[in-house]
Amino acid sequence: MTKSVEKFINETIKQDQIDRYLEDGNDFINDDEIWRKIEANKNPDKSRIRDIMAKSYDIQTLSPDETAALINLKDESLWEEIYDLAGKIKRKVYDNRIVTFAPLYCSNLCVNNCLYCSFRYDNKEKVAKRLNMDEIRKETEVLAGEIGHKRLIVVYGEHPLSDADYIADTIETIYSVNVKTRKGYGQIRRANINAAPMSIEDLSKLKKVGIGTYQVFQETYHHETYKKVHPQNTLKGNYRWRLYCHHRAMEAGVDDVAIGALFGLYDWRFEVMGLQYHTLELEKRFNDVGPHTISFPRLELAAHAPLTEHSKYKVSDEDFKKLVAIIRLSVPYTGMILTAREPAKIRREIIPIGITQTDASTKIGIGAYSDRYDKQEIEKQQFALGDTRSLDTVVRELAEMGYITSFCTAGYRCGRTGEHIMGLLKCGAEGHMCKLNAILTFKEWLDDFASEETKKVGEKLLKKEIEETKEKLPESYEKLLEYYKRTNNGERDLFF
Ligand code: SAM
Ligand code: SF4
Repeated sequence: MTKSVEKFINETIKQDQIDRYLEDGNDFINDDEIWRKIEANKNPDKSRIRDIMAKSYDIQTLSPDETAALINLKDESLWEEIYDLAGKIKRKVYDNRIVTFAPLYCSNLCVNNCLYCSFRYDNKEKVAKRLNMDEIRKETEVLAGEIGHKRLIVVYGEHPLSDADYIADTIETIYSVNVKTRKGYGQIRRANINAAPMSIEDLSKLKKVGIGTYQVFQETYHHETYKKVHPQNTLKGNYRWRLYCHHRAMEAGVDDVAIGALFGLYDWRFEVMGLQYHTLELEKRFNDVGPHTISFPRLELAAHAPLTEHSKYKVSDEDFKKLVAIIRLSVPYTGMILTAREPAKIRREIIPIGITQTDASTKIGIGAYSDRYDKQEIEKQQFALGDTRSLDTVVRELAEMGYITSFCTAGYRCGRTGEHIMGLLKCGAEGHMCKLNAILTFKEWLDDFASEETKKVGEKLLKKEIEETKEKLPESYEKLLEYYKRTNNGERDLFF
């Protein structure tokens, strides 16, 4: 280990930025209490479940007892009702929009040793790579100029060479790319990041360059399991530094924060409860502002990460569907992300039960978008992907299923983040506003990037959406038509 890596490890964690949030020296995840709640809510009766369902449909966050009751539900006919309700809640808050994005992996250098990840320090087979700004520009040109993405999740290992200053440079580089397209131009308008827990000072640097959401998954909320899978002599081994990173982000003014758990490390029921306690803690501390999104990746095979081959907690497809619906009901206003880790068949089944965001044309190798010969080899990636279909194919399939793909990123650029967006989401107003922007950005994308086949399906859907606006939002109809016409003539980035 070099001196600079050692220094980085010794200086990253600021203990006072953990201690200030503890209550009586404890963090907000009490493992025994979680198991007690699961135990205490066994065999919930029908009428209780119906009351819980009504509360979710009223867009109110559930209590841990209520989430635990859903976890214990066995009645299969009620499960069918719950799947149906999950879709209804999603439509009430977000309408029929699905937001798409792509991951951009910048660096796989990592000082940590997570047993499930092929970027781990001990994986000596890994081809270590960190993109420079020219390479970041090239990747972005493909994503924004050829595929047509407007939104990215930019991903980094934890290393002094990919610290906050590097991350800030990459974000500025990504935002600076502007590529001429068939009718207009392509650019990334929202760069979210998935990176290590940082200090308030470092997060403030990222706020300055305009990151979108700050996404960090706790991986497992179970303290003992966390210790086992994250060796204790590593930075990531510090459970609390990670658990409170969203608190620090909020303090730094990054008020769209995203949480998640890596399902398959420990019992899925415990992790769902962990996510619920995390949500309630954020709401309690930050004026009712809970997670902007929740992610629930399942553990995938990863090269030189033996845990991924034999974890006893792997989640079955059946339980996965249940846990997605439980999260949808437990935090009814939150965005929910389903990634290309899941195969196409599962994505088709899960999207209707409450998903708001998904990725497509996904590549997770370093420099993989501009590497035309990349075969998505598992050796070069963080883990194996389940769905490598193109954005064009996914957009067409979604349109056929009745969903409009939204490339809208207006929200955060108009200050609709944190408290402001939470208010809109909880009263259902965000769905209307974003619908108009979804129409305009979908039109942009169809004109600039879609294949003929997708364009046909997409335009049919657009026609229906515009007609609906006339009925549902008559006050915005004229302005929508004007913006639509201007978009058709090549103007870009018009929004409500
Ligand atoms: N290094 C940062 C961190 O660990 O927070 C961010 C990047 S890491 C590449 C992003 C996420 O990938 C992790 O939080 C983890 O949940 C997920 N991940 C890691 N290994 C995985 C695997 N084998 N299957 C599925 N997801 C995995
Ligand atoms: Fe590093 Fe993140 Fe992979 Fe852990 S999950 S080894 S911290 S890149």
